[in-house]
Amino acid sequence: MDSQDQQQLREKIHQRLTELVQEHSDPGPTPERLSDQQEDEDARMDILAQASVDEALQGHLALELRQLKANLEWLDSDLGGLCSSCGEPIPIRRLLAVPTTRHCVECSAQKES
Ligand SMILES: [Zn+2]
Repeated sequence: MDSQDQQQLREKIHQRLTELVQEHSDPGPTPERLSDQQEDEDARMDILAQASVDEALQGHLALELRQLKANLEWLDSDLGGLCSSCGEPIPIRRLLAVPTTRHCVECSAQKES
């Protein structure tokens, strides 16, 4: 995985985290804090902090949030982007489609069968 792919995937994970938190939050007027052009690191940290509070409350949602955040750290590690079963690089397209995964298509299929 090159740094451009990694950056793209990190964006994807942050985007998904934002979606999850927004889906979960109470309906009603919310300030438009995150425009496409002004999404800064502080705002992202707010979302992550909020997400960690929500983790205690929502089972399924919390699981996905945890996996996304764990995968952000995983990306920074030596094993980032490598299948945790067979060690082969996971195609970036798969990671973008399923940002919570740590398995290549083959290993995931084996696990589920
Ligand atoms: Zn694999």
